[in-house]
Amino acid sequence: MAKNLYQKVWDDHVVGQLDSGQNQLFIALHLIHEVTSPQAFGMLKDKGLTVRYPSRTFATVDHIIPTDNQSRPLQDDMAEKMIQVLSDATAEAGIEFFAPQSGNQGIVHVVGPELGLTQPGMTICCGDSHTSTHGAFGCIALGIGTSQVRDVLASQTLAMDPLKVRRILVEGDLGPGVTAKDVVLHIIRTLGVNGGVGYAYEYAGSTIAAMSMEERMTVCNMSIEGGARCGYINPDATTFEYLRGRERVPGGADFDVAVEKWQAYASDVDATFDDEIVLQATDIAPTVTWGITPGQAISIDESTPDPEQVEGLARNLVTDALEYMQLAPSTPIKGVAIDVAFIGSCTNGRLSDFEAVATLIQGHHVADGVRAIAVPGSEKVDKAARALGLHEIFEAAGFEWRLPGCSMCLAMNPDKLMGDEVCASSSNRNFIGRQGSSTGRTILMSPVMVAAAALRGQVADVREVFGLTQAS
Ligand code: SF4
Repeated sequence: MAKNLYQKVWDDHVVGQLDSGQNQLFIALHLIHEVTSPQAFGMLKDKGLTVRYPSRTFATVDHIIPTDNQSRPLQDDMAEKMIQVLSDATAEAGIEFFAPQSGNQGIVHVVGPELGLTQPGMTICCGDSHTSTHGAFGCIALGIGTSQVRDVLASQTLAMDPLKVRRILVEGDLGPGVTAKDVVLHIIRTLGVNGGVGYAYEYAGSTIAAMSMEERMTVCNMSIEGGARCGYINPDATTFEYLRGRERVPGGADFDVAVEKWQAYASDVDATFDDEIVLQATDIAPTVTWGITPGQAISIDESTPDPEQVEGLARNLVTDALEYMQLAPSTPIKGVAIDVAFIGSCTNGRLSDFEAVATLIQGHHVADGVRAIAVPGSEKVDKAARALGLHEIFEAAGFEWRLPGCSMCLAMNPDKLMGDEVCASSSNRNFIGRQGSSTGRTILMSPVMVAAAALRGQVADVREVFGLTQAS
């Protein structure tokens, strides 16, 4: 019987059924970090349990690590303690820990793929919502809570009900200045932040097929923001070329064997789906959020909504979001002043993001009064960017080039908004208080749109600021 990738990976990893009726799913790869795992290790100890598969578990630090000075001990006692607890727990359990300055530290969803730990056909878990990122390789990749981290540490399995699968086809060529981030913001805007509840999203179509692995990771990363439990893209030649030669990927003849296995996970041509929608790339413009959820997004040429034009309960959501963002109804989003520009996070903190921005900002400078920071997603990204001289281009343009970490995506570290500052951000969430200030305002957009906003001091159209045309 024809199957889609989700069904194939699921069937390959179900190892039991619990009394609750839920399935027990074997987890091929468990990624842990300093925020959700120390408590889970404590729970394990309380129950007298040990880590079932240390060789399938890998740790890094990302959320709390400062990006200006990472010398130990860290200035923040709590952050230092969290790193130490993780370091001790992983050493005791025999888990590999990518510590700062190891050369492999970074945001957990950047580190897994770049090392080649993330491979097609896997089930992957991590105590962070944006684990869906790994679905770009054709995996079922699930963000889990602390008690589930405990369960996976103890049993290498997760209790779960199967999901429905929605195929989202995006067809055609993207216009100049339109990126993977715009595609996923457009999808979430179209289907809503709860549109994916109960679903895994399969992203397909010619637009997705033409994307690089780093672009595919951006799309899958934000699946969770559309309510989907996970999102994935079928593995193909682009996937295999990305993985070839990576540190933790089999080499030589074993690579060819692995590719054959990986290829077989792709959805069959006659596979069926619980739902399917088709979107056209030509309908997607550079897209930004205006409100307090990633679904409250509009294209750069549009204006904020007018609550009077909105029916039912949604009217209150619009009114509240406009009030929080201090925006009047029907305000053109282009021209809204910003205070901070942030390029980084597991959504858009990879080498290609910085390369794309660097080619545009050469010879330009950040507007007066704008604090602009560029934060590589990992030590490997930082090293590669420095080797290309990208850090110098960013610094010459008035950005601060920082050390790797989650930085201002979640602001569990010193990188925070102050007061009601407005941040043009390449991250993934614009929830109230997300960037460290209870009144801070986040406008999500692509890295090149953040660059345009940084230079103008206001939300701007990347196509106009840098003169991008169809031919460029
Ligand atoms: S960058 Fe943001 S979303 Fe990604 S792992 Fe860090 S805090 Fe989570």
